[in-house]
Amino acid sequence: MLIFVSVVEEIKSRLDITDLIVSYVPSLKKAGRIYKGLCPFHTEKTPSFVVYPDSQTWHCFGACGAGGDIFNFVMRQEGYDFPGALKVLADRAGVLLKEPTPEQIKTDKRKQKLYDIIARTATFFHHNLLDIKKNESIRQYLAERNISSNTLQQFQLGYAPNSWDALKHYLLEKGYTEHDLLEVGLLVEKQDTQKTYDRFRHRLIIPIRNINGQVIGFGARALHKNQQPKYLNSPQNALFDKSAILYGLDMAKKEIRQTKQVVIVEGYMDVLQAYQQGGKTATLRGINTVKESLSNRLEYNLTAKGVHYENYLDVDIRIATLPLGKDPDDILRKDKAMWELLIKNALPLVDYQIQTIVAESDLSTAKGKSHALRTLVPVLRQVKDPVEQNHHLKQLAKLTKIDERVLRLELQRPSNVVVSRKSDPTSNMTKLLQEVSLEEHCLALLIGQPNILQRVNQRFFYNAIEGLTKNDFLSTAHGSLFSNIQAWVSNSHQAIDDLYQIVDMHLKPHLDRLQYLWQKQYQNMFVTQEQIEKDLFSLVVRMRVERKKKFWTN
Ligand SMILES: [Zn+2]
Repeated sequence: MLIFVSVVEEIKSRLDITDLIVSYVPSLKKAGRIYKGLCPFHTEKTPSFVVYPDSQTWHCFGACGAGGDIFNFVMRQEGYDFPGALKVLADRAGVLLKEPTPEQIKTDKRKQKLYDIIARTATFFHHNLLDIKKNESIRQYLAERNISSNTLQQFQLGYAPNSWDALKHYLLEKGYTEHDLLEVGLLVEKQDTQKTYDRFRHRLIIPIRNINGQVIGFGARALHKNQQPKYLNSPQNALFDKSAILYGLDMAKKEIRQTKQVVIVEGYMDVLQAYQQGGKTATLRGINTVKESLSNRLEYNLTAKGVHYENYLDVDIRIATLPLGKDPDDILRKDKAMWELLIKNALPLVDYQIQTIVAESDLSTAKGKSHALRTLVPVLRQVKDPVEQNHHLKQLAKLTKIDERVLRLELQRPSNVVVSRKSDPTSNMTKLLQEVSLEEHCLALLIGQPNILQRVNQRFFYNAIEGLTKNDFLSTAHGSLFSNIQAWVSNSHQAIDDLYQIVDMHLKPHLDRLQYLWQKQYQNMFVTQEQIEKDLFSLVVRMRVERKKKFWTN
């Protein structure tokens, strides 16, 4: 079922949230501009459930911390999925649900066809593997890796035959075209002759599934020592977005929700072995390595970045150090207790960095001390919690035997003096960006790439989350700018001059600054529209988390 933003907007405009909610929450009472009542989703004696008529949203400031619009409310209250809630509310509002356009149906069908091809291919490879008599080398490989037949089935491992066209023939016979198979990267085309052949040959096949468990691509491991490369992945395509996929998430998501913990490893085999050993912690493999995922377009070292992300995403990142030359797969197979201990003793990011730098610096020399200081002070500066920062400062002083007061002084200096040489062009930029609020960052993206507003709202919509509104901005100036941008996006050709025309006089300097930000951070940085979209999405999520925190502390 395809659903459109316009339908949702229509329903929202016809229904009033207080009318709807009071029929479920009889205790709801007016308190100034808001309504308060006992939360229907958890047991409580003092009301912490709030409805905001202005923004037509609700929020529980008690145990469940839930919130959203009328759709989220009905979904939660009635246990419906989104389409279910949509039907009920459309009915209540007297809105007829429209059929999708032919164009949308066409795209949907095309995508479904590609999913089918990939699913059939996974089955084809899997059956080949089960027919193990044919494949001595793969049987040997799996035995060496100690992969059980249950794991093999759960992850639907497969074998790509040692042939140039076995898969091609199989799929063409099923009625698919070479064009289809090229599109999902199962075939490769020779440039000179334009003849096509199977991409995966004589390899162990690891189907990569999305969070819903649909196969979207393949990882393929070489079985012969002369085969290159050792691992071959499906190329990027309409279904397979390497940067957005974590291998194993479909199997691990339930446990991650329960334990609120996840271990990220590098290899497919690490994930399989962790699953097989039944470790309490869900394990995932980053298709992009963790280093890439954490890396940003700015130049600071990995850990400073990691700490920045910790703040940004509100997570606690730890690093486990494995014995030299061992990978998780080895350890899990031979000594599960040791693996659990390693995970349990994983160091918080900052401790890890302090230990590593201290270990690699010769602290008996002035040069060594200076190196340690220059590397670690930027990391400490990223630690926003003053108690934590103080703790690490003392720790560093003790380890390096540098006077604590000297360290404190370094920490308080403007960052560009310590982080880099004066001539470094990125330093001012780094400083500027550190001072940029989430709201400004968000607005800068919208100015630079106005079309993403609609796309991001759609993304929210599919996650049954309310889209970006003026009320997401705490600063009134930012709220007004957002309204201006909204009007500008829908009514003009999105030339920046048009935006300047509608923006209030006193907000124009703001706009200058936002434009500068956009240019510095995104323009000419080869950032894809998709990346910008993702950035905006997570910025808005982050803004909402911040707002909730502010409510608590005030
Ligand atoms: Zn609640």
